[in-house]
Amino acid sequence: MIEQLRVKPGERVKLADWATDETFGWEKEEAKAELPRVLERLAELQSRLFAEEKRGLLVVLQAMDAAGKDGTIRSVFTGVNPAGVEVTNFGVPTSTELAHDYLWRVHAAVPAKGLIGVFNRSHYEDVLVVRVKNFVTKARWSKRYSHIRAFEQQLVDEGTTVIKIYLHVSKEEQALRLQDRIDDPAERWKFRLGDLEDRKLWPKYMAAYEDAFAETSTKQAPWFIVPADRKWSRNLAIANLLVKTLETMDPQLPPPEEGIEGLKVV
Ligand code: ADP
Repeated sequence: MIEQLRVKPGERVKLADWATDETFGWEKEEAKAELPRVLERLAELQSRLFAEEKRGLLVVLQAMDAAGKDGTIRSVFTGVNPAGVEVTNFGVPTSTELAHDYLWRVHAAVPAKGLIGVFNRSHYEDVLVVRVKNFVTKARWSKRYSHIRAFEQQLVDEGTTVIKIYLHVSKEEQALRLQDRIDDPAERWKFRLGDLEDRKLWPKYMAAYEDAFAETSTKQAPWFIVPADRKWSRNLAIANLLVKTLETMDPQLPPPEEGIEGLKVV
């Protein structure tokens, strides 16, 4: 299942041809029952990563509005030790952030050894919203793919595993979710009028995402496109992807100090 989601290095994805409602043959109830088992395994692997304290895992989450970035973080990271996970939200850059290069705030948020860092939006905004809304010239944003490849490669070389996840929702599903946000007083705070502006720019965003995948899905820092119209299947797919990633990292508990075995505490 996971290999199905991977954007192979150099592959040119046409997002319109990728299903948003794929459920991998799972039934809803079955998937909901399976999730806690996968999350238990995730928690176990995370505690090993934390104890090992030699490598970090960076999970980049990108998506259109209402595709479920927040819901994914809530659902998939319940059960892991909060001390070992850092979530960073990347919003409109502050004036201090704008006074630096675009990777400055990003590098500072990369997880330390032993931690899982989750980016809720990321440096990819600098080739997505920034490109679509012409915040910088094409001459500038088009050079950023190579900066990003080099930046991520450097992280990998220095001991951070990097995976990037795009939550793929349909435009129809986004309409339903945005409407729910407007209609439900408890959800209304999540809605911004700007969401409708971005929705109008949907084709431009899709083109920007497609270029980002083609330019930056590398063997070392791959993109995964997760169908996200069904929340239960999205959660299980992502939980499995994280477990698989951590299993491949295979973190080891550090060896105990000499002379501890058999010691009696008095
Ligand atoms: P979210 O929509 O992720 O729940 P917000 O409502 O705080 O969170 O929105 C964050 C906004 O910040 C988004 O509209 C996003 O496009 C914008 N943003 C993020 N990074 C940048 C950037 N580098 N330049 C301009 N806008 C950005």
